[in-house]
Amino acid sequence: MSEIAHYIDNARVAGTSGRSQPVWNPATGQSERTVALASTEEVGRAVASARAAWPAWARTPSLRRARILDRFKTILWERADQLAEVISAEHGKTHDDAVGEVTRGLEVVEFAVGAPHLLKGEITENVGTAVDSHSLRQPLGVVAGITPFNFPVMVPMWMFPVALACGNCFILKPSERDPSASLLLAEWLTEAGLPKGVFNVVQGDKEAVDTLLAHPDVKAVSFVGSTPIARYIYETGTKNGKRVQALGGAKNHMVILPDADLDMAANALMGAAYGSAGERCMAISVAVPVTDRVADALIAKLIPKIEALKVGPAADRSSDMGPLVTAQHLAKVRGYVDAGEAEGAKIVVDGRRFRMDRQGYEDGYYIGGTLIDDVTPDMTIWKEEIFGPVLSVVRRKSYAEAVELIQGHDYANGVAIFTRDGDAARTFAHDIEVGMVGVNVPIPVPMAFHSFGGWKQSLFGDHHMHGAEGVRFYTRLKTITTRWPTGVRSDPEFVMPTMG
Ligand code: NAD
Repeated sequence: MSEIAHYIDNARVAGTSGRSQPVWNPATGQSERTVALASTEEVGRAVASARAAWPAWARTPSLRRARILDRFKTILWERADQLAEVISAEHGKTHDDAVGEVTRGLEVVEFAVGAPHLLKGEITENVGTAVDSHSLRQPLGVVAGITPFNFPVMVPMWMFPVALACGNCFILKPSERDPSASLLLAEWLTEAGLPKGVFNVVQGDKEAVDTLLAHPDVKAVSFVGSTPIARYIYETGTKNGKRVQALGGAKNHMVILPDADLDMAANALMGAAYGSAGERCMAISVAVPVTDRVADALIAKLIPKIEALKVGPAADRSSDMGPLVTAQHLAKVRGYVDAGEAEGAKIVVDGRRFRMDRQGYEDGYYIGGTLIDDVTPDMTIWKEEIFGPVLSVVRRKSYAEAVELIQGHDYANGVAIFTRDGDAARTFAHDIEVGMVGVNVPIPVPMAFHSFGGWKQSLFGDHHMHGAEGVRFYTRLKTITTRWPTGVRSDPEFVMPTMG
């Protein structure tokens, strides 16, 4: 069995910790490879390499850094299919969905290529008589990214293109469940001309993460994953004096008002709830139809669509939805459906009944699309993130009740409203306490030149990812005030200087 390695100083480096774990192919339930789990010493080596590379990288003109990213972008465009296949083999998502993931990541590279513009500071002439002030945005040093399984390419690319463009060196600690894509990204960055040590990958688990969180040479940590770990990363990293942005879990609602186009809403829900088998932090997992009439009509439209979902491996390009990522995750998602049933919700379409009978795929981690009606806010399946192809319906009688439901949830990543009423949509978008809002758009993932992030328990820290927020996160501001002796001489002054 081959072992998935680390990547340090522009080369694959075999693990030496003696610790590793299997990486599964979720479509078949088989494991052909293991991933190395880094020790503290191995992480230290990656950080030392990045620290050594940093002064020269920080001094490299931003235009030259941008050109390396531009070459990397071209490589990604040309090899998107290859990368997508690697993603699908370990994550399980369909090929087209994986290509979509690569494209959304690539867009952040396109944004980061504008670094020379993004890093421009401000200048004010004559803040005092013959005194000028200007500001600079300077890199932090070595920064780390710790990423989840559900987007093994896109989420790291929310981080490193911006971090590198700003002049930082980057250590990626990918998810141990789908680690292979990280090595292709590293190799293609090398091919694009990135100097040694500027981008290193350490494979690993808690030991690697804890080492990064404690290491004095790691100046900032970007994290995306579940809420309990995000909170832990934020608390530990900030206690150790680091800048931290830690994005957590989600429970995204979609309100359907009585005047909505119900066919449009039903189609939107299908993609948003069942795409990528619901393993998206922006998946819609709760539909909130306003009035029973809307709920009944919507459910009637959804049932045949869910029953027609084609569940299968990525190797079959006609699959709508792949398996879940691991056997444990499959058991967890099934457990949530059991809990909903036990708590009194109505299972309208039961994905637990799905059986994969294709030869070679019988042991894959498949579950069918599931629809649960009459879910109420006291149920576990409303309170917790399921992260599977399970759509709950919480019926509400009015717009106000729908808003109250959403405001009452701890997670606040994304939300959507479907309506033809501009006034209701505008009021909703302004009042709702959620980081990303869609109006007749089910998955409102901001483009690369805007910024991604939730509120409340969905994000710990101050800065969202990529866009202008990403540039702010990966740089620190310096303001320089300058006066030149031009023949104007004055005697020493001992009072607090004012610029009047
Ligand atoms: P996870 O929290 O289990 O793992 C994320 C990362 O943290 C991995 O690299 C993992 O190795 C590391 N990790 C796990 N346990 C740890 C521990 N005890 N100590 C230190 N590090 C640890 O998340 P996951 O299951 O890989 O991803 C799914 C979760 O990510 C979902 O909750 C989803 O909502 C969330 N997510 C959020 C966003 C967002 O933008 N808010 C985006 C994608 C995924």
